[in-house]
Amino acid sequence: MTHNINIYTHPSSLGGTGLFATTKITPGQLVLSIPEPLVTVPDDIHLTECCSRCMLWRPAGGGTSMLNLYEDERSLNYCTGCRVVKYCSKDCQRADWRALHKVECAIFKKLHPRILPGSVRATIRMLWTTPGEAWSQINSLESHESELRKTDKWEMITLMAKGAHGYSGTILGEKDVRGVYARLLINSITLVNSTFDPIGIAFDPLASLMNHSCDPNSVMVFDGRTVSVRALREIAKDEEITISYIDNTNPTSRRRSELQGRYFFTCSCQKCVSPATCSGLKEVFIDIPGVTTSNLEEYAWAAISTPSEDVLLKAIRALHTTKLWPLQRQPLPLLHHELIHSVYIPLSKWPQALLHSLLLYLYVDPVHYPQRHHPVRVTHAFTLVSLFLQVSGDLDSLERVAPKAKGMDLDLGKIIWGLLCEIVAHVALSHGTESTFAQTVRRKKQEVGEDLGANETTGVWVGKRINDVGLEEELVKIRVLVDGLLEEMKN
Ligand SMILES: [Zn+2]
Ligand SMILES: [Zn+2]
Ligand SMILES: [Zn+2]
Repeated sequence: MTHNINIYTHPSSLGGTGLFATTKITPGQLVLSIPEPLVTVPDDIHLTECCSRCMLWRPAGGGTSMLNLYEDERSLNYCTGCRVVKYCSKDCQRADWRALHKVECAIFKKLHPRILPGSVRATIRMLWTTPGEAWSQINSLESHESELRKTDKWEMITLMAKGAHGYSGTILGEKDVRGVYARLLINSITLVNSTFDPIGIAFDPLASLMNHSCDPNSVMVFDGRTVSVRALREIAKDEEITISYIDNTNPTSRRRSELQGRYFFTCSCQKCVSPATCSGLKEVFIDIPGVTTSNLEEYAWAAISTPSEDVLLKAIRALHTTKLWPLQRQPLPLLHHELIHSVYIPLSKWPQALLHSLLLYLYVDPVHYPQRHHPVRVTHAFTLVSLFLQVSGDLDSLERVAPKAKGMDLDLGKIIWGLLCEIVAHVALSHGTESTFAQTVRRKKQEVGEDLGANETTGVWVGKRINDVGLEEELVKIRVLVDGLLEEMKN
């Protein structure tokens, strides 16, 4: 089931069939929305943190929830049959039971405490739920079996497909199931929550038709299990809709090897071929003269998978001390991001999380996500507001981490209010007016407005338009703290 389709399918110069605009699409406009993708499953790490029906995410005692980003009180409960999957409500449980879980439950129960990997769970769902007419669509998708055969993944693929074949009880042969598994592997989408953390696997034959560009004109956003595609910039009538399959803030060599390794193609987008003429994100890094970057870079990438404060800070300092590593060059921003989300927020080190988030907000996001309404940029801004709210009650804690804050006469109320006004102004284009995220943002703004409005001094400017509040002025002041942090990292 799809809504708001502004697209048609047509052979693409980028490969296979693509989706094209039936009409001019303006920045932020919805390109297409799929409320019920064919398959959505939580990945292995998030199986106990997500409702297996609506994909509501409730992290177990950590993560972004500690910022109270989501006031939603629903908690998750195990299916009492298998004790493997969880649901947020009786409605979700019932709907999922009818759709599929009645078949799965017995299989999961028998295997428990062993749990089938996400890709196998997704394949079993595909085998059971795909209506007859959708199979031809699925079979027309690339499986890249001959290429996969030559990789070290093949043994695992054979094993997983064998599992999916055996447990599903499908009438298809093992070879056909392997084809389905390979198609899922190549064409599935990483399901993310509203703060863009990966939580699951989604697959839908229509969404799979979108081709990749490292400088895409559209972006995919999830609201629960609903997939939306929104325009990042103006798309002309008959222009192909493109999204990025990978983190397109990575340098060209890394993007290319990732695309080749996972999707078996060499990207020939403008950003790969002629970055200078590209309208979107620029390649912000060419080379570091006189520095052998490869070892340092490898070391820094490896640090991301070991998210401890020591390891991350050491890698961050190593890159900063070269004094030649641009702040926007990955993996430096990613290291800062990990430090915020895997270390500082779970440890409630709010002032530290705030300073590093500010650094990304001020210096990195405008380069990585040039469109103000880019959903990643808007969600980062919202995390930043939540951190300001945490710190605003205890300004001393900020002064302990950044002594320069003393005597600065910072007005955090202005920053919080200004940022919230800015976010509300962009959220209709980034996530859609009626999205859960937009509702959360509006609720937060109202709450903060009531608090600030009740205060004699802040009450005067709450309700004024965004430009009147003086956000920029306050940001200039607080920028000094970020610059201090940067200086410290470089020495
Ligand atoms: Zn649910
Ligand atoms: Zn069950
Ligand atoms: Zn490219």
